[in-house]
Amino acid sequence: MNIILLGPPGAGKGTQAQMLVDQRGMKQLSTGDMLRAAVKAGTPIGLKAKAVMDAGELVSDEIVSGIIGDALDELGPDTGVIFDGYPRTAPQAASLDEILAARGRALHHVIELEVNEAALVDRVTGRFTCAKCGAGYHDKHKLPKVEGVCDVCGSTEFKRRPDDNEETVRTRMTEYRAKTAPILPIYEARNIVSRVDGMASMDAVSAAIAGILDA
Ligand code: AMP
Repeated sequence: MNIILLGPPGAGKGTQAQMLVDQRGMKQLSTGDMLRAAVKAGTPIGLKAKAVMDAGELVSDEIVSGIIGDALDELGPDTGVIFDGYPRTAPQAASLDEILAARGRALHHVIELEVNEAALVDRVTGRFTCAKCGAGYHDKHKLPKVEGVCDVCGSTEFKRRPDDNEETVRTRMTEYRAKTAPILPIYEARNIVSRVDGMASMDAVSAAIAGILDA
């Protein structure tokens, strides 16, 4: 099964994708994660993408569709995929159709996480992760049980995304409204869109997604 998780920054796409990976053995393909890895490694794509990402704008359709195609080629044909943060524009949605068709894959569900935008700035600007294992935390809602020590792996190093500051988050939301939300009708016309209340608890959102996938 191949699905898209759609929603503005901070809607919980990454969290839910990780839960699906753990629960179902699906593979999460996050263009944001892949671009951050390219920036860190200093590859030609990373060098091109860095300033755009820091500004909260969108990296070119060619680059992201290229990395999605390459990432799919690394997977066995039976591995279900969660597209997280891709597609984000109409041309990317068209590319995804071609990329999937060329690999004999179909798209089964598009799940939109509906959220109250006012809450998102707080969610995004407060989040941080363990630098070692990637466990997610939040300044207000989920601090480590022992201050400065990761609950999961005991590491004392944490990191924040450079684009999780208020100004950049607002640009990212504007990009979402202008370029990403308008792709929903493409999938609505195919009857594969479901909506989930992204303001509910992590477990409630996960249960709602499971209900859709298992229906
Ligand atoms: P994310 O981790 O999904 O929030 O993505 C972080 C940043 O990476 C975005 O603000 C964009 O600059 C870039 N990015 C990630 N995915 C895409 C995409 N599908 N199209 C264009 N830019 C992207």
